Amino acid sequence: NRQWVLASRPQGAPTADNFRLEVSAMPAVNDGQVLLRSVYLSLDPYMRGRMNDAKSYAEPVALGEVMVGASVCRVVESKNSAYSVGDLVLSFGGWQDYHVSDGIGLMALPADMARPSYALGVLGMPGLTAYMGLLDIGDPQPGETVVVAAASGAVGSLVGQIAKLKGCKVIGIAGGDEKCRYVRDTLGFDACIDHKAADLASQLASACGEGIDVYFENVGGKVFDAVLPLLNPKARIPLCGLISQYNASELPAGPDRLGLLMGNLLVKKIKMQGFIVFDDYGHRYNEFMQAMVAWLQQGKIQFREDIVDGLEKSPEAFIGLLEGKNFGKLVVQVGAE
Ligand code: NDP
Repeated sequence: NRQWVLASRPQGAPTADNFRLEVSAMPAVNDGQVLLRSVYLSLDPYMRGRMNDAKSYAEPVALGEVMVGASVCRVVESKNSAYSVGDLVLSFGGWQDYHVSDGIGLMALPADMARPSYALGVLGMPGLTAYMGLLDIGDPQPGETVVVAAASGAVGSLVGQIAKLKGCKVIGIAGGDEKCRYVRDTLGFDACIDHKAADLASQLASACGEGIDVYFENVGGKVFDAVLPLLNPKARIPLCGLISQYNASELPAGPDRLGLLMGNLLVKKIKMQGFIVFDDYGHRYNEFMQAMVAWLQQGKIQFREDIVDGLEKSPEAFIGLLEGKNFGKLVVQVGAE
């Protein structure tokens, strides 16, 4: 059984030697338990936070422990009457080939699900994040302008498409020409701006002629700096992620702009609200699923996956996620379906 464990804590960007591949004996299966074989492993930005020994909304991964993560798995042995061999389940199994579960926290998936990996993306955690963050906190109204960064990724691509379905004007921000073209042409956003362009702020200003009513924050840093002056009175900011800051070990140099930010929030009466998806919206999963399954069936939502073949490539793929190397929801194919 191959397992990726946390070998050391990163200083800044993670490197390959922060991870170690260990091979252990197959775990024993006791009464009430099932043995699960990983098929797809989800790689997500939050995992960077778990590598730090810092207080957060979730415990850090301990040194020498298996890296955490959600996975779609097959039951290969069952001593639990609720599960049979061959069942497909969503588990929080981590970066490994096999693990044992007592059934708590497992979610059964249809055994013949057309795309099981969607349980980690459009029909899973990133989908729920996009749907609830945008609709519950962002509250987009027809005709309003919605801006979202990391627009070709798992969460951002869905935020923009849902906002289009709600009748909004949608501007994406993404890294590079190819991603921007995809966001415009395939996802149907009204425009997409490359955050690597030197004139990001002026391009964003021209695309948002009537200001910004909802900014779905995935990134922070210079993208937020470009957004701030364009926010309209009563704008809403679902604060979902700050990926540009995850590798930072200290605050950036330069003038303190906290007063500028707070002044804008105050005089424009802007609402900025953070959320942690399962804490805040886990209980609304069914409502999200109903809407998203219907949109997918009607061809109203596109979802791109970036599937990396082989558990051995997980660290490299994860390091790339924090540098924008993924193009779509990053998933590792650990084994055959
Ligand atoms: P993505 O599939 O969007 O992949 C991450 C993308 O972030 C990269 O492809 C890259 O896109 C972009 N990125 C990386 N570094 C930078 C940078 N320095 N500046 C600008 N963009 C950067 O990931 P997800 O959709 O899974 O996650 C998106 C955000 O949502 C993350 O911040 C994540 O932490 C957050 N999140 C929060 C949740 C919550 O409960 N609050 C739940 C799920 C996700 P590009 O090449 O376009 O720059």
